[in-house]
Amino acid sequence: MRAQLIAGNWKLYKNLAETKAFLAVLAGQTQQAPQVEQVLFAQAPLLPLIGEEWQRLGAPGRLAWGPQNLYWEEKGAFTGELSPVLARELGSTYALAGHSERRQFFGETNETAARRALAAHAFGMKAVFCLGESLAERDSGRTMAVLKEQCQPLFAQAREAPEGFCFAYEPVWAIGTGRTATNAQAQEAHAFLRGLVQEAWGAEAAAKTRILYGGSVKPENAKELLAQADVDGALVGGASLDPLSFLAIAAAHKG
Ligand code: PEP
Repeated sequence: MRAQLIAGNWKLYKNLAETKAFLAVLAGQTQQAPQVEQVLFAQAPLLPLIGEEWQRLGAPGRLAWGPQNLYWEEKGAFTGELSPVLARELGSTYALAGHSERRQFFGETNETAARRALAAHAFGMKAVFCLGESLAERDSGRTMAVLKEQCQPLFAQAREAPEGFCFAYEPVWAIGTGRTATNAQAQEAHAFLRGLVQEAWGAEAAAKTRILYGGSVKPENAKELLAQADVDGALVGGASLDPLSFLAIAAAHKG
């Protein structure tokens, strides 16, 4: 069975003091969700603080962290990018790649998202590779075709499954809108994605690969979404900013 993963995407939120305050609450409450792996995707300058604080608090739970984006080159004249080597040095064990906000505002493509995701693995981390359709694409019945297109460069660049690779299915119309995919819509997309993984990387990889759902996950809807057979966790934006709601979502995991 795939162990569920609950990841928070803090986007461009939280300063140093807010990060410390969040971790203090999380550390005090870990008995609520003791078995589930939790990951925080934070702005890069917060990563060393998360590591230091978590150690200082006695590392009471299964917390991992990582950047919201990283580059595929280790070093060079690439102003504004984050080196995967530095991300790893800062204790990152996961990295987000291809988030829809990167695609929408910063020109991320299926090709570059795949390169970033695979760089995470090349430098000792695990990727959470985000994909999902827009509302227009869903309304015109193109959801599955879009998911397939979004995966193509990834499968072309990686002939075998990178160990621990994760997908996050995030319908763009559900991100930050308060509108969540129905349980059936999520399950259908996840099962389809698992089929794509099986075609590209084989049955064993498909059975092992975790596919998270993201898009307005809240404590109120987490349990049902996480109960779907092919939903292996959640990628949570807004509701991950409050440690108690993040924990409540983590506590809804199915194993
Ligand atoms: C996200 O940022 O990946 C996300 C799913 O955001 P929200 O939970 O706020 O919809």
